[in-house]
Amino acid sequence: MLNIVIFGAPGAGKGTQSDLLVERYNLNHISTGDLLRKEIAAQSELGKRIKNIMDSGNLVSDDIVVAMIDQAIATDTQGLLFDGFPRNVSQAETLEKLLEKHGRKLTCVVSLDVPRNELVRRMLERAKVSGRSDDNEVTIMNRLKEYEAKTKPVADFYEKKGLHVKVNGTGDIKAISQSVIAEIDKRK
Ligand code: AMP
Repeated sequence: MLNIVIFGAPGAGKGTQSDLLVERYNLNHISTGDLLRKEIAAQSELGKRIKNIMDSGNLVSDDIVVAMIDQAIATDTQGLLFDGFPRNVSQAETLEKLLEKHGRKLTCVVSLDVPRNELVRRMLERAKVSGRSDDNEVTIMNRLKEYEAKTKPVADFYEKKGLHVKVNGTGDIKAISQSVIAEIDKRK
């Protein structure tokens, strides 16, 4: 069974590529950002606790997202695509343990490589239509800062394990998808 992480900075196209991967491999798409936004929309206790953190562009606490991932792995029967998780090295270590607990292993981590100026351009463009309260200039800059400081080291973590593969994330969406799929097919 496939267990894939789609990795990259905010605005790299993880969501777009995830939709195409789900179509290709019939995976269970686990986007921690989407799950957190659902909690906020439902105005649950958890949603109320995390709204301000997400609006600021900071990461929410590991416990919250790890509980969501634990649940997703425990109930999955079709293969998993993690999008927006792991966001720091501690989450990456936890993911390894959780997968192991269920007799699974990561297939690979595919990084979408996009230059910073293009990330900013895309996110500002998306801000016009997304309705996401964290798609504004101040928050976008903080999300990129959080990425540089906490998330980028996750790529090195997987590089050392031989699980990391980088794909050019600029250009035609279908062409990017073909590169991503080619890399996954080599490793599955
Ligand atoms: P995303 O939709 O992946 O861009 O995530 C939007 C926001 O949700 C982030 O800026 C964080 O505040 C929060 N978030 C999503 N995934 C995680 C995660 N794995 N760890 C911590 N915070 C997260």
